[in-house]
Amino acid sequence: MIAKKEIDKLLGSYDKKDIRIAAICSHSALQLFYGARQEGIKTVGICKKNNKERYEAFPLAKPDEYIFVERYEEISDHVNELAARNAILIPHGSAVEYIGKKIETIKIPIFGNRRVLLWEADRQKMLKWLGVAGIKTPKAYSPDDILGPAIVKFPGARGGKGYFVVKNTKEYNARIARELKAKRITKADVEGVVVQEFLNGVRFYPHYFYTPFSKDGFKCQDGRLEMLGLDKRIESNIDEIYRPLVFGVKAEPSYTVVGNAPVIMRESLLDEVLRMGRGVVDASFKLFGGIYGPFCVETIIDENFNITAFEVSARIVAGTNLYPTGSQYSCYIFEDLMSTGRRIAREIKVASANDALAKVVY
Ligand code: ATP
Repeated sequence: MIAKKEIDKLLGSYDKKDIRIAAICSHSALQLFYGARQEGIKTVGICKKNNKERYEAFPLAKPDEYIFVERYEEISDHVNELAARNAILIPHGSAVEYIGKKIETIKIPIFGNRRVLLWEADRQKMLKWLGVAGIKTPKAYSPDDILGPAIVKFPGARGGKGYFVVKNTKEYNARIARELKAKRITKADVEGVVVQEFLNGVRFYPHYFYTPFSKDGFKCQDGRLEMLGLDKRIESNIDEIYRPLVFGVKAEPSYTVVGNAPVIMRESLLDEVLRMGRGVVDASFKLFGGIYGPFCVETIIDENFNITAFEVSARIVAGTNLYPTGSQYSCYIFEDLMSTGRRIAREIKVASANDALAKVVY
């Protein structure tokens, strides 16, 4: 892991009057560029030539400047150009995927504590984090001892692609053999498999933001926790699996995330959802020096209002793209129309003005 003081030194050399926000042109980049523009911060888009048109199509959400790359994995070859522009990189889902293990060593200031990205990438670590946060997680089964419906997950964030549900070990073995034969999975996938109790209920994905710079509101550590939004993921084909049934056709269910939809929860559920977010922040301080900025806890709520979480995303999530002009919750915290993208830009502005960028950047 690159030393924090090395990043602090680089940050110290930045021109504080011209800090820029950089993002890979994918995932939530439109929201990030738009939000930065609203806060008066210039932006740099790391972009494949073919993707430029997508951003040019949205003049208010295109970056002020592009750095073109052949492949996003190459971003580490462009750190000097980014540093020359006083750029802070915003990690989003695609950045985490493309930068991969290099996130530990890449010499560019990253918004938030980059250690969290290692904790979210490793399923065992992530479940430990949720445990320390006092949040209920699904039972883990050994593949030889599956007691009831279980979801089978392979290594790496795949947005649910290729996951399936089995009811017992016999079904598991048969399905694994089928998947291997069809070359949809590898032996390495089977070695890294996670078999988890299948939770019944409704999925809710609250979007949180932890800031050390504001004290009013929902107290958390030295600052406050903001609930900036809430979404529900739309998955193909499980969410509309009843459609072929009309014609008597039974489809194999799949859980591939293809989009997001806005939702609102019963107001009384907010207490626990806020406490859960605080638990995640408190645990992050105990385990690895804290989480700053946006994160999301992926939850399922059952008919008795029990909330179980199966994942933490320790960065801006794509569900926030629903709310570029603020959400059903952010409007109760900010007079301004506050998206998560804009909130990140605001945090960078406040930190910079208080000479405290190093607190929220690593
Ligand atoms: P990402 O990292 O992009 O969020 P992933 O590949 O890690 O994706 P998960 O988010 O863990 O995948 O799961 C994908 C989908 O599978 C979820 O949105 C949910 O619908 C379903 N799912 C995951 N775990 C469970 C569970 N324990 N019980 C029921 N459904 C689950």
